[in-house]
Amino acid sequence: MTIAVINCGSSSIKYSLFEQQKQIETNVIQNLQKENYEAALTKLAEKFKASHSLIAVGHRVVHGGPDFHKPTFITASILEKIKSYSSLAPLHNPLNILGIEIMQSILKNLPQVAVFDTAFHHTIPHFAHIYPIPYEYYENHQIRRYGFHGISHEYLMHQASLKLQKSVDQCSLITAHLGNGCSITAIKNGKSVDTSMGFTPLEGVMMGTRSGSIDPSIVETIAKDCKNGVEDAMLALNRKSGLLGISGISNDMRKLHEAKSERAHLAIDMFVHSISKTIASMRTNLSSLDALVFSGGIGENDAIIREKIIERIPFLDLHIDKYKNLEHGKHHLGIISSSASLPIFVIPTDEEKMIMQEVLCLLSS
Ligand code: ADP
Repeated sequence: MTIAVINCGSSSIKYSLFEQQKQIETNVIQNLQKENYEAALTKLAEKFKASHSLIAVGHRVVHGGPDFHKPTFITASILEKIKSYSSLAPLHNPLNILGIEIMQSILKNLPQVAVFDTAFHHTIPHFAHIYPIPYEYYENHQIRRYGFHGISHEYLMHQASLKLQKSVDQCSLITAHLGNGCSITAIKNGKSVDTSMGFTPLEGVMMGTRSGSIDPSIVETIAKDCKNGVEDAMLALNRKSGLLGISGISNDMRKLHEAKSERAHLAIDMFVHSISKTIASMRTNLSSLDALVFSGGIGENDAIIREKIIERIPFLDLHIDKYKNLEHGKHHLGIISSSASLPIFVIPTDEEKMIMQEVLCLLSS
């Protein structure tokens, strides 16, 4: 019984094969261009076809719009609906759709399941998912907070609940997914109640190449200065900002630690400020907090950044010395705050595993 999981990104295709829930193969096909993307997917589908034990393919679909709250078998009408959300995620959904179409054309009659990165956040209450702009933009243009990284935040929630030995619906958490893209989510009794990313993955905290939230008027000022106006301004905010834009060196935190330049230090300070401020603000959504969770490339590996973030969060009220003494390995953290004990977990995220579990769950229902 094999389940394949694929994640079609803008320049890479990540896939994993699971047998009896155990990952038996994982790979990333990198540096793909528009011209060879389809061929790479076809080759992958042929490879899957050769596996006689394959029972389903799970697809990560970035945008599920306002309608998809759960993993869904992909029928023709579901695919049409996913296509209708392409304008909400023009860089991602079209590639996810291409992945689905090619897999469907080669692996005929095999169940294909869409697992949406937005779905986990559908529980965010109305007052937290609407923007304070004229209401008709919400009604007519579906402009609202959708949130992203939902598959990761949900996985982290399940892992944290195991560590806390509490059922998921009793867990209140703040999960910080800090990779190239970064987002922070407040989870109350097993449900997402707020998240930093919004209508697109550009909103929220400072990221590798994305600015995160800025005064929208800045877009107008930058656009006036650009050949292609708003299009170039959006490119600057998505691809040339964040750690890269400030340091002028890299979007990779490891390189910024090595660099001795003032701007590299400034980028790190700004990142820490942005993340700690957002974590602290997420606390206002929760009446109690069971744990803070760090994940993603930076969250999992960078103890210096974690420590700097933690130091700035007043409600943790930590004895940092104790924290230092307690950290033995990269996956261990058990922080004692001066007033109460608040666990801080470092959990490697595993979106593929979460997708595989969702596929299994749907198949068995
Ligand atoms: P993505 O969001 O693309 O999935 P990842 O979660 O893999 O990215 O995170 C990538 C980022 O994690 C890198 O750009 C780098 O900044 C950071 N990173 C990875 N390993 C380390 C490390 N050992 N120390 C500090 N930062 C790291």
